[in-house]
Amino acid sequence: MNKVYLASKIQTDSILDGDGLRSVIWFQGCSHNCEGCHNPETHKFNIGLELELEDVYKMIDELENQDGITFSGGDPMFQPEAFLEILKYVKEKGYNVWCYTGFLYEDLLKLRPIYKEILSYIDVLVDGPFILSEKSYSVKYRGSKNQRLIDIPKTLKTGKVVKYAD
Ligand code: SF4
Repeated sequence: MNKVYLASKIQTDSILDGDGLRSVIWFQGCSHNCEGCHNPETHKFNIGLELELEDVYKMIDELENQDGITFSGGDPMFQPEAFLEILKYVKEKGYNVWCYTGFLYEDLLKLRPIYKEILSYIDVLVDGPFILSEKSYSVKYRGSKNQRLIDIPKTLKTGKVVKYAD
């Protein structure tokens, strides 16, 4: 898989999508259909910016003064092969990695083996769908209270979900 569909170019200097100053890579495509989703324009598949992975790597190379990279969308888990390759590149560059997904961590482990490999490159996973009735402005970095901030290295090591923060 040498191509990826992104919803836009990389966004830089975000302080809303994880700790520190971060760049956000917005993936195109999501079929979770959460009621009240803030990014409905990212739901359709195979539209948006169709990029070679090399083009994404070049954009990553151009980043300056960023503490980490956050993957959001859409849902990056719907393009797992391309996502995995980009994650490898980003980790090789030493970036801290956060990822937003509408899937639950436990379900990802059951769905496809590639998801376990993907998770091994992620530091913090923000998991679960946005649930309108649980919408909250008091939970940091999330839209609704059901979503969890999961410390993935600790979770993979211990075999049980370890929260990064509440
Ligand atoms: S997972 Fe995210 S992008 Fe997808 S529908 Fe839910 S809130 Fe929207």
